[in-house]
Amino acid sequence: MTTAGTQTFKNFIAGEWVDAQSGETFESTSPATGETIGAFPKSGAADIERAVEAARAAYEKWRLVPAPKRGEFLYRFAQLLTDEKEDLAQLMTREMGKVIAEARGDVQEAIDISFYMAGEGRRLFGHTTPSELQDKFNMSVRMPVGVAGVITPWNFPIAIPSWKIVPAIVCGDTVVFKPATDTPRLGERFVELLVEAGLPPGVVNVVHGGGGAVGEALVKHPDVPLITLTGSRETGVAVLRSAADNLKHVHLELGGKNPIIVLDDADLELAVDGIVWSAFGTSGQRCTAASRVIVQDGVYDELARRLVERAEHMRLGPGWEPDTDVGPVINKAALEKIHSYTGIGRDEGARLLTGGEVATGNGLDSGFFYTPTVFGDVDPGMRIAQEEIFGPTTALIRVRDLDEAVQVANGVQFGLSSSIFTRDVNSAFRALRDLVAGITYINAGTIGAEVHLPFGGTKQTGNGHREAGQAALDFFTEWKAVYVDYSGKLQRAQIDTEP
Ligand code: NAD
Repeated sequence: MTTAGTQTFKNFIAGEWVDAQSGETFESTSPATGETIGAFPKSGAADIERAVEAARAAYEKWRLVPAPKRGEFLYRFAQLLTDEKEDLAQLMTREMGKVIAEARGDVQEAIDISFYMAGEGRRLFGHTTPSELQDKFNMSVRMPVGVAGVITPWNFPIAIPSWKIVPAIVCGDTVVFKPATDTPRLGERFVELLVEAGLPPGVVNVVHGGGGAVGEALVKHPDVPLITLTGSRETGVAVLRSAADNLKHVHLELGGKNPIIVLDDADLELAVDGIVWSAFGTSGQRCTAASRVIVQDGVYDELARRLVERAEHMRLGPGWEPDTDVGPVINKAALEKIHSYTGIGRDEGARLLTGGEVATGNGLDSGFFYTPTVFGDVDPGMRIAQEEIFGPTTALIRVRDLDEAVQVANGVQFGLSSSIFTRDVNSAFRALRDLVAGITYINAGTIGAEVHLPFGGTKQTGNGHREAGQAALDFFTEWKAVYVDYSGKLQRAQIDTEP
């Protein structure tokens, strides 16, 4: 079913824009207004089959293209993203909802990683090392792996695809990309720009559709050795199970329950700035959002007062309006889930200090808006302090000292980002050492990753991989150890060791 006048988009397979084999479509709509963005192919296993076949065929040639040449496509891509930055950001604020400044930041992240990985084409360093035997040369080199299945969420609709697709390209892998069904237009634009950069047919393919019908077919396909997913913990578990039969390499970036610790000696104004940005930026829909604020007793009341005041002055509205602080959440189901946690928090005995309502009136009725919400007197064991809400809701937890703060911070199943506000260098370094998280910020909120550092989480936020920076190369390549014996005789390692 397509609404009359709606623009219809296609999958991109083997260098051609094609419909889903089913001929069916689904629509993407703006979370701020309900406006239809476009209709997209409702694909299935047959479309994945074609896309994987194209990616496999392309791989045999792409892996032989010298890495510096592969990087040159990415320089062109980065330049195209730069040229299109404003248009992409405007599209993002309409399709995904985040405020325009953040949408520009999302595109900038893709520009940054593309330039960074383009340069990797002339590095992709391996190691040389001495041999234990005479007249023998040893080295290790990175080898491409094959077809990468790339499955992404809606909350960073340009940045997250870039963190996966761009390193895959420079490493010599080819890609079948399944964007989130809430942001297909942005996924489609991303691929259009790769095509414009001159990427050969089959190197990147895009297949739209749901997690069950398309994502799972991709994860189960025996010719896709790499699966990289950013999404919820539940999806991560399902993907890992589906990939097990083929022992695929699976990279998971999942949820968070990220803490900000505020000690008595903190710069409170700075801490409040960091909390507001980290808890309510992107309407709390960041994997790194600060959904717990762990505050030392001496400043708890004052911090709570200032935070509530700031939260109450935030303006809700469509992301493209310049004075909007908080945009919509992604869809109705998300709005209902976020609101249900307000009920859960109340039932658990936490004190609702502000927010906790679906926002209506002032032109907000046709979108999905939720008021910035702060709970006080939260016990670390409560569900609102343990589970990912993925909305503009944060929980204040009172602690005695740094030791208790770190214990509370670590007392969840996730371990993505973390932060501490303190003026004491000893406390800062102890927190840095003891917080079990993939990222720790000192005197900044929980968000603000830069692309040349490893990104990812400990514990059930993932499965030990990292994206971005050098670390990304470890997932998209495999090491080969190479031994060149130029002695002209049989030399046995560990046996013929006498000189
Ligand atoms: P989601 O898990 O619902 O969906 C993510 C993607 O997986 C979508 O493309 C979806 O269609 C697909 N999918 C769903 N079920 C699947 C299945 N069985 N097999 C294969 N694919 C399947 O997540 P979402 O709502 O799009 O995104 C929000 C979640 O993503 C949050 O939990 C958030 O913390 C997490 N996230 C994590 C990071 C990180 O880097 N750690 C970054 C952003 C978002």
